[in-house]
Amino acid sequence: MMVVMKKDHSPQELQAVLDHLEGGGLSGHMIIGVERKVIGVVGQIYPELSDELRALPGVDETVPISRPYKLASRELRPHDTIVKVGDVEVGGGSTVVIAGQCSVDTPDQMLATAKVVKESGGHILRGGAFKPRSSPHAFRGLVEEGLRILAEAGAAYGLPTVSEVMDPRDVEVVAEHVDLLQIGTRNAQNYFLLDEVGNCNKPVLLKRGMACSVEEWLLCAEYVLARGNPNVILCERGIRTFETGTRFTLDVAAIPLAKRLSHLPVVADPSHGTGRWYLVEPMAMASVAAGADGVMIEVHPNPDKALSDGAQSLTFANFRRLMERVRAVSETVQRPFACV
Ligand code: PEP
Ligand code: MN
Repeated sequence: MMVVMKKDHSPQELQAVLDHLEGGGLSGHMIIGVERKVIGVVGQIYPELSDELRALPGVDETVPISRPYKLASRELRPHDTIVKVGDVEVGGGSTVVIAGQCSVDTPDQMLATAKVVKESGGHILRGGAFKPRSSPHAFRGLVEEGLRILAEAGAAYGLPTVSEVMDPRDVEVVAEHVDLLQIGTRNAQNYFLLDEVGNCNKPVLLKRGMACSVEEWLLCAEYVLARGNPNVILCERGIRTFETGTRFTLDVAAIPLAKRLSHLPVVADPSHGTGRWYLVEPMAMASVAAGADGVMIEVHPNPDKALSDGAQSLTFANFRRLMERVRAVSETVQRPFACV
């Protein structure tokens, strides 16, 4: 439910509404719009609540939210949310490129990758340190050392950083080193982890679970928002289908659908979404043409020797080409590259 405050309400009246909600075991999330202040109410809403709230001074009206996800819904917040990652703004009409290695392998490689990402016009540097691998025998990341290497490479080239966190117990350490916390597809419905990043003051990149419907994905985002962290970026990264020619099926239609249903920014990950380096560039262009607020791309100095996801990682030359072509699509659909 939304509580729309009158234009001339007083701070005391607003506080009385929030207190009333708290008294009923509910939480109120403030949305400060251009015209009005709106409170998003979440929790177990009881039948008399609407009448009780409308009787309070300063309240203009109450409006039900029909979607199961409330805070993530465009019904609550009609305007695009812009999430700041360092100085980079994600959402609101420009294109952001997040790029880097699947995993942080060595310091020299990470620095070389950061240089190319920066020089090609990329905005955010990625590098996995806690790696969720399908096989327990595969390389599982350099953990904290990997985070340090990533942070140094980002700092050397003025790029904010993103890395995955897999365990609620690691949220603090990952948040210490990076600017954006990534929740991977395998943990998209790990609700304790979502609670934990929701308690954190760093923005969150939430991958779509590979078996999640768009509605379930938005409900995952709702967990983070409900804890009071409003800075969620959705990431379409491909879903499981019967197709075997690609690793996953990048659901391009989910990009405009999620943007229609939610005010949160939506980026696409054509690297994991296809699993094949030669499909990454066309699907990155398709994603931007479909309205994505950005793309996430895996690039490596030597994909054949990458410790993870070499088959979908671009060489530097291919990454530079992708950047040119994505930029051209972006301009064609009137989405300028984000500036920093
Ligand atoms: C990743 O980005 O490195 C990753 C493991 O992604 P996903 O969770 O989408 O598989
Ligand atoms: Mn990867």
